[in-house]
Amino acid sequence: MKPNGFVGAIGATPHIVLPKLSAALGRTIVGKAEFLNPGGSVKDRAAKGIVDDAEATGRLRPGGTIVEGTAGNTGIALALIANARGYGSIICIPDDQSSEKIELLRTIGADVRVVPAVPFVNPENYYHVARRIAESTPNAIWADQFNNVANRAAHYATTGPEIWDAFGLALTAFVAACGTGGTLAGTGIYLKERNPNVRVVLCDPLGSSLYSHVKCGTLETTGDSNVEGIGIKRITDNFRDAPVDDALQVDDPSAIEMVYWLLREEGLYIGGSAGLNVVGAARYARTLPEGSTVVTILCDGGERYRSKLWNREWLVENDCAPTHTDLSFL
Ligand code: PMP
Repeated sequence: MKPNGFVGAIGATPHIVLPKLSAALGRTIVGKAEFLNPGGSVKDRAAKGIVDDAEATGRLRPGGTIVEGTAGNTGIALALIANARGYGSIICIPDDQSSEKIELLRTIGADVRVVPAVPFVNPENYYHVARRIAESTPNAIWADQFNNVANRAAHYATTGPEIWDAFGLALTAFVAACGTGGTLAGTGIYLKERNPNVRVVLCDPLGSSLYSHVKCGTLETTGDSNVEGIGIKRITDNFRDAPVDDALQVDDPSAIEMVYWLLREEGLYIGGSAGLNVVGAARYARTLPEGSTVVTILCDGGERYRSKLWNREWLVENDCAPTHTDLSFL
């Protein structure tokens, strides 16, 4: 048998029913444990899809270099795949992302370029810097997770079928936040093809424009968020035409209350975007008939945010220390 290796171990993640949350709501809430991917996040799937596609189309050749601008998880996944397949990796990351992710990228062996966190319109934004580095580096590709639809194709080919095979017609809704939109769009397109009645729902952090896009076709923003990896102010090719039925907005305090509640009550140590997703899934589930099943994504684990989300001083400084012991924040 051919060894599966790092890349072959990506996907087929467990579906974790959250028993206490489900009992409290009278609806079944399920988290797909993407933090159990070998690179530790949902972005392993997109990275695999992007690299496989670049190899198949001949853009990525032996000895080549993979360049990407990333909030961290895509870079970690790409750098690990690069090691396993004999490529180099250059990763641009904004300086407001957790030091754990930046350090991990260095440990993996990526050439890490930390750039100032500036808006997308600024040419020094990590996205544009990564593109320019790829253009000026011989035998390099720009992974371009935002507009390279090999990202959402990976979720169409794997995440969607895994959820469908596990729940089938019992699945009422799929709820997820978007960074690139690859997870929500790819999974949503697949699930809708199997059952057009499945509800595909965006949960958006404050400061992101997708909520207003889904609700009224504009790209407005209100407020701001510190949750890493999600929220976007433009329509990416991966998000475009996603079959989204509805959207809700979730603020950071609710997401933080949820990550602490999930650790204390369900034994799950996860990151902020996963907490925000579970809040979205729970609030949306309450609008559905009793007995409904809602699946969401547990994007990455808590360890990547030890210095922020799991650090009391940081929480107090950012005025978002959790105060609840029950689910009344929902
Ligand atoms: N959560 C985290 C922690 C992430 O890093 C990302 C990817 N940026 C997402 C959620 C969102 O995934 P997607 O890019 O597929 O929308």
